[in-house]
Amino acid sequence: MKKLINRPEDVLSEMIEGFLVLYPGLSRLSHHNVVLRSDADTVRDRQVAIISGGGSGHEPAHAGFVGPGMLSAAVAGEVFTSPSTDSVLAAIRAVTGRLGVLLIVKNYTGDRLNFGLAAEMARAEGFLVETVTVSDDVALTQSHAHAGRRGLAGTVLIHKIAGAAAAAGRDLPQVASIAQVAAGDLATMGIALSAGTSLHLDRPSFTLEDEVELGLGIHGEPGIRRIPMAQADVLTDELLRQILSNLRLSSGDRVAVLINNLGATTGMELAIVARRALAVLASRSLVVERLYAGTFLSSLEMAGVSISLLRLDDERLKWLDASTAAPAWPNVPRQSPASIEARTVDSADITQPISAHNPPQTSFGRKAERAIRAACDALVKARDRLTEMDQAVGDGDLGHNLARAAATIEQLLPALPLDHPPDLLRELGVKLQSVLGGSSGPLYGVLFLKAGNSLEGSAASDAKAWAMALVEGCEALSDLGGARLGDCTMLDALIPFARTFAEQVAAGVPVEDSLPLSLEAAEYGAARTSQMTARRGRSSYLGDRVIGHADPGAAAVVIWLGATIGELNR
Ligand code: ADP
Ligand code: MG
Repeated sequence: MKKLINRPEDVLSEMIEGFLVLYPGLSRLSHHNVVLRSDADTVRDRQVAIISGGGSGHEPAHAGFVGPGMLSAAVAGEVFTSPSTDSVLAAIRAVTGRLGVLLIVKNYTGDRLNFGLAAEMARAEGFLVETVTVSDDVALTQSHAHAGRRGLAGTVLIHKIAGAAAAAGRDLPQVASIAQVAAGDLATMGIALSAGTSLHLDRPSFTLEDEVELGLGIHGEPGIRRIPMAQADVLTDELLRQILSNLRLSSGDRVAVLINNLGATTGMELAIVARRALAVLASRSLVVERLYAGTFLSSLEMAGVSISLLRLDDERLKWLDASTAAPAWPNVPRQSPASIEARTVDSADITQPISAHNPPQTSFGRKAERAIRAACDALVKARDRLTEMDQAVGDGDLGHNLARAAATIEQLLPALPLDHPPDLLRELGVKLQSVLGGSSGPLYGVLFLKAGNSLEGSAASDAKAWAMALVEGCEALSDLGGARLGDCTMLDALIPFARTFAEQVAAGVPVEDSLPLSLEAAEYGAARTSQMTARRGRSSYLGDRVIGHADPGAAAVVIWLGATIGELNR
């Protein structure tokens, strides 16, 4: 397992140094892995202090939640290891004044022991200390024989609520009670797609093939059961089912929802889960007042999410909305997520609906229809081969993109102006730039647009006009993309084709004969790209590494040209 660290024994202190560099509002305590508010001394006697912490590997928790309005200090243990009692005690001494301190502890034996003993020792020194234990994990049943439900990502909401109440001047018994009661209205459930790897191991803590781990802990502990991998909506529903059956909410109840990235989940996936969660909760007539998504309490690079639900009333909502300077608390709008439909604005696209089938009236139109269909079929068939070629030198999307565009063009065939070549080519250009995407989209777009414009006013049977249109289309493509012949792009197939065709037509060779000859020139040009270094497009970043690989864009040109010509000459 590769990680961006130096010596494993330096990870903790270097991480804290990094936090200090990144967030000027944070300071650290010497000799301990404790991060505290830089203004801790100034506010010491003005508000109840709030301390939390636990093992590391859960970043941004807990140091990221230190700041005015949230934690006064965070105590960090080694990865997945509870911090020592004397570090907790050092943190208490550093930030606690006459109003006392609340310790927020996630329910793990080590954390309870170390924070509990530190609380006792601090009391003996004369500090006012209260402790709230958070056990929001609803994967484990209450009755089951275990060390009690664990503390999970929902704990961050308790940090926020307690921190806001303390900043607002509530006294220690009040802050403790606000936090404790909120912790009782909180439920969290997670799902892992893959586990993280601890610094000292070379393997992840568990492996999952086609399954996901449901109801897991945040230290790589396995969950309650494995279920087959399924679509995001199915998994989101399963998490919410378990959470809702525990929270006993009724219709009209207000909640805050926290979607937590366990480490390696993409923003894309988090958003997909968030949207489903909102829909499910709305369908249960629950009022989602706040929806947070992001990385709050991770488990190294575990892939997966947890969902937390907290019952809300006006006061709790106020604590969640209160401002904080803690760097990892999200700056989300203080309003409930409104419906997606209500916020969908019509774009000004002028897309013509597919009109009824108007069969082509001219012999050109009928030929064009068959030729376009053949070209599209060939591109769909070539999808995997082009994907493989693009994977070798590019990003691997070309096969899919061309196949998708070809399928769309085939669907649109009945609506295309098949009898009128300039319109037909321009329309193909417009459609291709819109559905193809990538670099190929605009390049094909300009090729067909230019060729269509060039054909304007010429007869459909005018071979010289077609040759000119092809040459001008290639020139426009070259102008837009900045590539020339020999730069290892689709132009290495297109230009030889256009030039050969123009030469043959100028020499009076009949079209049926000049087309196959021109295709040979395109094939030859495309094959030669495997000896070239790319100077344009994504492959150009690879330098000489592309030698030996033919350009996928040029290969695609040969595929659709070949199919078109095959059909025209039938
Ligand atoms: P990307 O994914 O890099 O945006 P595509 O996958 O859509 O691009 O297309 C890749 C192909 O596009 C290349 O194989 C090459 O033939 C062609 N191409 C890329 N850049 C240019 C350019 N500037 N001029 C001409 N063709 C280009
Ligand atoms: Mg590509």
